[in-house]
Amino acid sequence: MAMVRELLKHVFRKPATLRYPFEKREPFQGFRGRPVWDMDRCVGCELCFRDCPSGAIEMIGKGSEAEFKHHIDRCVFCGQCAEVCPTKAIMMTEDYELASYDKIEMIVEFKRGGPRVRHGPNEEGETASRALSLSADGNREAFNSLLLVILRWEFLCLDSDSLKSAG
Ligand code: SF4
Ligand code: SF4
Repeated sequence: MAMVRELLKHVFRKPATLRYPFEKREPFQGFRGRPVWDMDRCVGCELCFRDCPSGAIEMIGKGSEAEFKHHIDRCVFCGQCAEVCPTKAIMMTEDYELASYDKIEMIVEFKRGGPRVRHGPNEEGETASRALSLSADGNREAFNSLLLVILRWEFLCLDSDSLKSAG
C-alpha cells in the first residue's frame, strides 16, 4: 500500500522537468544556436572559415563570389565565426532543434543572389521535433502500461491479504 501511496503522490505532483518536445523552454539570453550567413553582407574575407575550430564551414569560391556550406554535425556552436566576421554577416540564432538521422540533412548551403538552400530539417526543425514527439508518445504509452501493471499487482496483493485476514 505504501508503494501505491508513493506512486499516486508523484503522479499528481508537478514535474521538475518539461515534457519536451510538447513543452519548450525559451532559450536564455545570449544562447548560441545555429549560425546563419547574410550573404549580402559577406565580403569573402575567409576569417570565419579560417577561425572555425571544428572545420564546420566549407567555403566555395573567393571574395565577393564566395559561398558557404555549414556542416551542422561538426559545429560546436562556439560563436567564433560571428565574433570574427568584420561585416557582421553571421548571426547566432536560437535554433537548436537540429537533429537528423541523415548526414546529408546536416548541411546548410548559403548562396549569393538566390534563395538559401537548406537540406534537412526545415526552419522549425520539423524532422527532429517529429522524431522526438513520436518517441515521446511511445515512452508515455510504455509508462502508462507500467503504471497499470503496478497498480493491478498492488490491488491483487491487497485482495489476497484481506482474504487471509478474513479466513
Ligand atoms: S559556431 Fe563555432 S563551430 Fe560553429 S561554424 Fe561557427 S566557428 Fe565553427
Ligand atoms: S568572416 Fe564574414 S565577411 Fe568574412 S568570409 Fe566570413 S561571413 Fe564573409
